Amino acid sequence: MRTTVGIIGAGPAGLLLARLLHNAGIDSVVLESRDRAYVEQRQRAGILEQGTVDVLRAAGAGRRMDREGLRHDGIELRYARQRHRVDFPALTGGRSVMVYAQTEVCKDLIALQLKEGGPLLFEAEALAVENVGEEATAGPRVRFGHRGAEDVLECDYVVGCDGFWGVARKAIPAELTRVFERAYPFGWLGILADVPPSHDELVYARHERGFALLSMRSPSVSRLYLQVPEGTDAEAWSDDDIWAELERRFETADDWRLERGPITQKSVTSMRSYVHEPMRHGRLFLAGDAAHIVPPTGAKGLNLAVGDVVTFARALTYERETGSPELLDAYSETCLRRVWQAERFSHDMTTLLHRAPDATPFEDRLQLARLERIASSRAAETDLAEGYTGFPFG
Ligand SMILES: Cc1cc2nc3c(=O)[nH]c(=O)nc-3n(C[C@H](O)[C@H](O)[C@H](O)COP(=O)(O)OP(=O)(O)OC[C@H]3O[C@@H](n4cnc5c(N)ncnc54)[C@H](O)[C@@H]3O)c2cc1C
Repeated sequence: MRTTVGIIGAGPAGLLLARLLHNAGIDSVVLESRDRAYVEQRQRAGILEQGTVDVLRAAGAGRRMDREGLRHDGIELRYARQRHRVDFPALTGGRSVMVYAQTEVCKDLIALQLKEGGPLLFEAEALAVENVGEEATAGPRVRFGHRGAEDVLECDYVVGCDGFWGVARKAIPAELTRVFERAYPFGWLGILADVPPSHDELVYARHERGFALLSMRSPSVSRLYLQVPEGTDAEAWSDDDIWAELERRFETADDWRLERGPITQKSVTSMRSYVHEPMRHGRLFLAGDAAHIVPPTGAKGLNLAVGDVVTFARALTYERETGSPELLDAYSETCLRRVWQAERFSHDMTTLLHRAPDATPFEDRLQLARLERIASSRAAETDLAEGYTGFPFG
């Protein structure tokens, strides 16, 4: 097989990149190791920044999102049984976010790709990325396994959109790489429940027993999270224990109530910050989780993936139109500027709201002081609102 851009991975990064390239008249092939049903049902992110919403619409992938997504103009911070609403449009000149699950974004992009785009191969696992460095004498290629046989995809560029555990990053020599990493000593126990959300916007709760988040997937499905110790087994928590703990952490001084409902899914996610520099090696470009991970508190993972592939698609289009590799050469630097802003924001939100296992009373008081500062200073609140609704694409 031969194509211009070989894309490894059909998560949001790979699928959107294929769509953007198709719209620009550039051909690509997407290789995805899992089957279609798995990719379409994998529960993950659900908050789309204003910039991501704009990109999906412009790419022709926003129709169902505009019909079924829920526009949110703010979030609620909850601490010391008090409630404080952060009003995004008022603080950011009209920006908001959209609640529309990653599963739905992927379904929409897969349907478009299969109908109008280039090949998208499921159960096609990339095994190795070869000949991408400047020293290579032959063109780039991806070796992959498909239907029990090994095949080769030859291309001009390879984009590794294969997530944190993928193979693309391994093709960059270790001596050219710098990795920045932090693991957090807690995780999130996430549940899906068949119950209408108890609040019409997301609620981020700081509590002495740990963080809790109320979010939603639709008007009838709630998504809720509890901070739990690292290594927690989700099955060790009964449904009653989960609801009781959520009620404790969301408790307010007024008559607000958390509605319970049947839990249909529960799982534990670990929390990590990770950046791989550079994001490019010769003709290999990394995008999304393949290059960086953020803890989910800032809702940035999917949005960063979108920023990366928009940057790549623009750079390649520019190269095709002008012959200049200037933007491709600047890819890593351009993406990393935005990545580090998101890393900072996600880290700030995580330390603002979670209780570390070894937190001292002094640190507890500082956390409350930071929250009170946001609730009482327009400048501090604006900083949060700008970060949450998203940093500009490069
Ligand atoms: C469990 C979990 C929960 C999350 N929850 C949230 C959240 O609540 N909020 C939030 O903002 N973000 C969340 N995230 C982060 C967000 O989902 C990711 O940032 C986003 O999925 C990144 O998209 P991506 O396309 O870069 O990577 P991915 O979505 O990981 O997609 C990578 C794709 O590559 C495929 N692949 C891997 N290896 C190969 C290979 N060798 N060959 C071919 N294909 C391969 C994978 O099967 C996958 O389909 C969560 C992430 C995880 C893992």
